[in-house]
Amino acid sequence: MELEVTLLGTGVGIPHSGRAQAGLVVRAEEPLLFDCGAGALLRLAEAGLSPLEIDVVLLTHLHLDHVSDLLALAKARWLMGANEISVFGPDGTEAWFEALRSLYPYLEELDVSITIVRPGDEFSLSGLMIRAGEAVHSLPALGYRIESEAMAAVYSGDTEPAASMRKLARGADLLIHECSFPEPFVVTNHSTPLWLGGTFRGAGVKRIVLTHLYPQTVGREEEMVRDVRAGLADETKVEVGRDLQRIGV
Ligand SMILES: [Zn+2]
Ligand SMILES: [Zn+2]
Repeated sequence: MELEVTLLGTGVGIPHSGRAQAGLVVRAEEPLLFDCGAGALLRLAEAGLSPLEIDVVLLTHLHLDHVSDLLALAKARWLMGANEISVFGPDGTEAWFEALRSLYPYLEELDVSITIVRPGDEFSLSGLMIRAGEAVHSLPALGYRIESEAMAAVYSGDTEPAASMRKLARGADLLIHECSFPEPFVVTNHSTPLWLGGTFRGAGVKRIVLTHLYPQTVGREEEMVRDVRAGLADETKVEVGRDLQRIGV
């Protein structure tokens, strides 16, 4: 099965022009939404997708820039006559969602099915195999590998460049990896270009698209691509993602 990934938001918790917070859609039999930060719901409409088409959302972690629009998405669907939504996410997802929803009694009729995902879990959705890997971040966080018989794409969520992500992404056709800051930032819990490239050197990934870009990356995009490639030291295609970019896999 051919897949298409649409980047909804390539930004972060600090707003800057042109980049909504985290979100992307994998279009398969049914579209799968990964993360739903502030602005992702608007981007969904701009990508030509109705909230009614998004029955399933997979969360990498519960930071606001990855989940702010989830309740808004569920409400949009409710307004349009759909009460059900399935949410997959890390430990804590159910408590987080129920606490939030409890503030809005009229949303009690929403039928939300929540599945807790742990690193190493595998399940099938929309004709695809989904595998979760452990991200290295400041709270429980996941990356996801999305695989058909013909292709594999990986979304890192927020993470340091990590051996667990390298393992998850081995041989993938597409890796959408966060790269929060340019060089020479020194960070934990997030990725920088040389560190990212070095971590995935020899992992056999065909194409890397950078996302989760802080305002400090503005004007540094080409340099970041160069630095990732310097770390990789191979012919992997590397680019900086942009909101509403469609990527065929
Ligand atoms: Zn985060
Ligand atoms: Zn984030």
